[in-house]
Amino acid sequence: MNFKSTRDNSNIVTPSMAILQGLAADGGLFVPVSFPKLQKNLDSLGKMSYQELAYEIMSAYLDDFSSDDLWACINGAYDEKFDDPGMAPVVKVGEVDHMELFHGSTIAFKDMALSILPYLMKTSAVMNKSDKDIVILTATSGDTGKAAMAGFADVPGTSIIVFYPKNGVSSIQERQMVTQKGENTHVVAIEGNFDSAQTKVKELFNDIDLRKEMDDRGFQFSSANSMNIGRLLPQVVYYAWAYLREVERGKVAYGEAINFCVPTGNFGDILAGYYAKMMGVPIGKLICASNDNKVLYDFFETGTYDRNREFVLTISPSMDILISSNFERMLYHAASNNTEELLKLMRSLETSGTYTVTPEVMVNFKDYAAEYATEEETMDQIRKVFEKTGYCMDPHTAVASRSYEKYVEKTGDRAPCVIVSTASPYKFPEAVLKALGRLPEDITDDALINQLNAVSKVAIPKAIHDLKDAPVRHDLVIPVAGMKDTVRKIILS
Ligand SMILES: *Cc1c(COP(=O)(O)O)cnc(C)c1O
Repeated sequence: MNFKSTRDNSNIVTPSMAILQGLAADGGLFVPVSFPKLQKNLDSLGKMSYQELAYEIMSAYLDDFSSDDLWACINGAYDEKFDDPGMAPVVKVGEVDHMELFHGSTIAFKDMALSILPYLMKTSAVMNKSDKDIVILTATSGDTGKAAMAGFADVPGTSIIVFYPKNGVSSIQERQMVTQKGENTHVVAIEGNFDSAQTKVKELFNDIDLRKEMDDRGFQFSSANSMNIGRLLPQVVYYAWAYLREVERGKVAYGEAINFCVPTGNFGDILAGYYAKMMGVPIGKLICASNDNKVLYDFFETGTYDRNREFVLTISPSMDILISSNFERMLYHAASNNTEELLKLMRSLETSGTYTVTPEVMVNFKDYAAEYATEEETMDQIRKVFEKTGYCMDPHTAVASRSYEKYVEKTGDRAPCVIVSTASPYKFPEAVLKALGRLPEDITDDALINQLNAVSKVAIPKAIHDLKDAPVRHDLVIPVAGMKDTVRKIILS
């Protein structure tokens, strides 16, 4: 099972090399050469623990990992760091089920993949006899940064630099990052939005001079963003997991399909759902839910991707993205692995900020549907669902929840659907309390947490307790143009 670049069919590497490199040197993203099929029937998969299922699915892709190595990665990652033994519990919320992916150490779904990525990367480095220290460069829209640092903090032979938009994350997200411990962790705020940070990070990856300079000094870049295939593969697991739970509770019989509705930004989470479907997990529609930055919704409506629009700051900041990096992977699959076609589209995106796909390519997006929720609809949904069911959602999950309702209204598709819940409401206490009409004026951050606890009755997660009194360790703010120099300063001096 090798991986090839979306931009060059002859750039083929082993699984461990794909993880180690993060991004292909030609600027493309690594995708599996073909999709492996599930080797066991659904009935036997249904009896597995999360860890066993993770092994079953990930070993199908990571076939250069020894069984012992992969098990060591899985056991190191999926342990009591998660406050629910099921890792990704599927819970009933009124008529629909939610899969909660926020029971890890940073209370957002990024923990599902970023708790295992450092293990995969270290194993890959050993396997390839790499003598270089790994420098993880990461742009974050709020959640990746903290989850990646939690995974890589004090891992020997690695260091991690996280760039986040200064005014583009929630105050809890920012506090989580700037208080990060670990001598090898570095957090830098940039004067710009997530798109500018991600674009610059990609540029640094492909900066030949910088790579050479790093190489000479014994360093090698890699990525903890979902551009790294090592982020995507662990996410495939929970789609199968949720399907099996739906069978268990009698929502469907083995083989009958369910839908998923996924709050989407960089298109990593939902793409993992597509990979699960390609492997044989019975999935009907993958409903792509956007906030006011609805560049993906518009694409699914028209076949034109157009990032030339105002970037809106919303209460679901981890989805405030106009250049969805994993969409390149899906486009490549939809264009039947035609690199030339893909390159044409990507060049057009780089030069004019827009591209239009052919009707033939568009047909291959048939596994998807798309909807969006405005800010008002999102706030309204948090309140409505809470009043009806007592379930308290974070704003990202609320975008998906509302989008799903709109999808059902429009299509009448009543197949069972799982809403992918991507963050704990404690990550966005202010927005959630405001939506519930329970936000007092002039309230301190600590009081906010207690208020959310009193209103929602959801237990305060350990991640939030740990923030109390944690000293700020990172306070650098720079312009986007200063990112390269900052990387050089941090790593080389
Ligand atoms: C990252 C994130 C998303 C978007 O996931 P993508 O893989 O970027 O599409 C949604 N919700 C939350 C809470 C996130 O942190």
